Amino acid sequence: MLRRRHHAQTQVAGEAEGRQETHEDRWIGGDPAGSVHGRPQDGSQLTPAGLYLHVPFCARICPYCDFAVLTGDRERRRTFVEHLLAEIDLHADSPLEFDTIYFGGGTPSCLEPEDLARIVHRARTRLHTAADTRIFLEANPEDVSPESVAAWRQLGVDTLSLGIQALNREGLKFLGRLHDPGSAERSVTLSREAGFRTVSMDLIYGLPGQSAADWQDELDRALALQPDHISCYQLTIHRGTRFGVMEKRGTLTQLSPDAQGELFHLTHRHLNASGMQGYEVSQFAATVKHRSRHNQKYWDHSPYLGLGPSAHSYSEGRRWWNFRNTSTWQEKIAAGVRPVEEMETLDAQALTLEAMMTGFRTYAGVDLEQIRRRWGMDLRATNADHIRRLAGEGLVTVHGDRLSPTRDGLAVADSLVRSFDLS
Ligand code: SF4
Repeated sequence: MLRRRHHAQTQVAGEAEGRQETHEDRWIGGDPAGSVHGRPQDGSQLTPAGLYLHVPFCARICPYCDFAVLTGDRERRRTFVEHLLAEIDLHADSPLEFDTIYFGGGTPSCLEPEDLARIVHRARTRLHTAADTRIFLEANPEDVSPESVAAWRQLGVDTLSLGIQALNREGLKFLGRLHDPGSAERSVTLSREAGFRTVSMDLIYGLPGQSAADWQDELDRALALQPDHISCYQLTIHRGTRFGVMEKRGTLTQLSPDAQGELFHLTHRHLNASGMQGYEVSQFAATVKHRSRHNQKYWDHSPYLGLGPSAHSYSEGRRWWNFRNTSTWQEKIAAGVRPVEEMETLDAQALTLEAMMTGFRTYAGVDLEQIRRRWGMDLRATNADHIRRLAGEGLVTVHGDRLSPTRDGLAVADSLVRSFDLS
């Protein structure tokens, strides 16, 4: 998938090329019997949280992808699943109550439905999960069939996020995707018929040479399929990816910043006018109920636990992340320890910066009073003139305690945040 997430990590070259060896030399157990994890007996409160499960496998590696991904055969995937189950067990003492379970990747839809069901069952029996937990699954169109969507519905998937990326042959070929426009469209139709709460389409724009008319045509084709949610990501070229190498050699040229800006504005203008309400820089939903409950946790600093290679976690001002290399991740779990590579404690300044970074990427913006209460940073006092100037330039609006980016502000969200004095 193409997503900008906290878990996204630059891929390890050896992994991406499928050269990574698995060094499992220890049996780590099968699926233990267990009753549904109940609420604490001592009456203590559980904290609502999100659970992210990173499945690193893909049928092949897309030339723009910088996630922790690898190709792998059936046996390797089975081994991975056993380790993921064991990693869930290592968190059985978690005080968090998960109301979202998000299968991301990689391509989690390439796992057998029975394996996905085992993982959901293990999470539900070993961890605290809420009664209305939502389950999200990222899927590639080539994995969508009447049988697979029925199986995913059966295991409780509410939101299916389809990695469509483009709806024209040239775009899909350029992006190195395995599906064609026809199978992409069929995957949306099949998914809608299967009755998921939300069917979401991922699209990529800003391909070299793409005109505004091309992109609007693409958006219209997507809208005609009547998805509940659309995610539109601007193509970013990362060093170390195949596109990165091509750019360095001069065989690939990105769109100019002006052309990219034009497509950004077109995306927001056209989708909002067509009934898909934007709520984040790249997220659009047909109604509020189709907005991503899971992503919201990243945006408002709710706790989340990430399991699987490269997955990030956050709770109470601390962030930690797993080893990105799948073999190292597996070795740690086989040794009975959590596969955490590093942990950092964020101070008030860092937390404020993050809240601004994520908040300014949303239409809602940031709640300055909440930032003051949570981390003691009174930006209304320290940045009063600056806020007035940004409002005068049409980049933000101020409503009470809330500071929200305009569409022009959204387009430059990162530099907008960096312009604040957070000292
Ligand atoms: S399908 Fe392509 S873009 Fe998505 S995670 Fe796999 S390699 Fe990356």
